[in-house]
Amino acid sequence: MRLNDGRSFAASEIVLCAGAYTGKLSRLLGEPIPLETERGYHTQIMAPGISMRHSIIWPARAFMVTPTAGGIRVGGTVEMAGLDAAPDYRRAKVLVKRAQEALPDLRAEKATEWMGHRPALPDTVPIIGPSAKHRGVFYATGHGHLGLTYAATTARLIADLVTGVQPPIDLKPYRVDRF
Ligand SMILES: Cc1cc2nc3c(=O)[nH]c(=O)nc-3n(C[C@H](O)[C@H](O)[C@H](O)COP(=O)(O)OP(=O)(O)OC[C@H]3O[C@@H](n4cnc5c(N)ncnc54)[C@H](O)[C@@H]3O)c2cc1C
Repeated sequence: MRLNDGRSFAASEIVLCAGAYTGKLSRLLGEPIPLETERGYHTQIMAPGISMRHSIIWPARAFMVTPTAGGIRVGGTVEMAGLDAAPDYRRAKVLVKRAQEALPDLRAEKATEWMGHRPALPDTVPIIGPSAKHRGVFYATGHGHLGLTYAATTARLIADLVTGVQPPIDLKPYRVDRF
């Protein structure tokens, strides 16, 4: 395997877990998967002028506001624009406007904007399992909106597969060749 910085090394097992970019890698291995990116945005506000004790979610307006260390974070939206398009930060600004409808005293001072990729599959179920074509290759991708939530569970399952331990659940629903 060769890394972008020029280093290369041999591995008997490899886990492809590059989020929405995993599709590019699987295509190189002749194993295309219908992986898309659901791009999302957030604005981290370090001087919001309000304090919050818990998160709020407004499903109808598709955003949430979460207290974080030293500030609050307003996040949401789904943008289907692929891996390469530049971020459209108007989406982050709209989220803040919506949050201000719910929280009129919210100020957007000392704010930074961010765009991230949610790796998404058509059936919204992740791929967790071995390659159907290459021995020693494993996939862990496609967790969509819940990749942070499922990170530890996925790591545990993949560790079992890589080390040859029987996973505690049936991983058939998560197989790579189900599409
Ligand atoms: C606005 C927003 C809010 C979200 N909120 C939540 C939430 O509240 N709860 C939740 O559970 N999930 C949430 N998610 C979803 C979560 O962020 C993703 O599901 C999760 O990040 C996917 O994890 P991953 O490790 O598969 O991919 P990523 O986190 O995308 O990590 C993949 C990594 O692989 C690297 N990479 C790519 N190509 C290569 C390569 N060729 N070689 C080496 N490295 C490579 C990338 O740089 C990246 O660091 C949110 C996402 C967004 C955008």
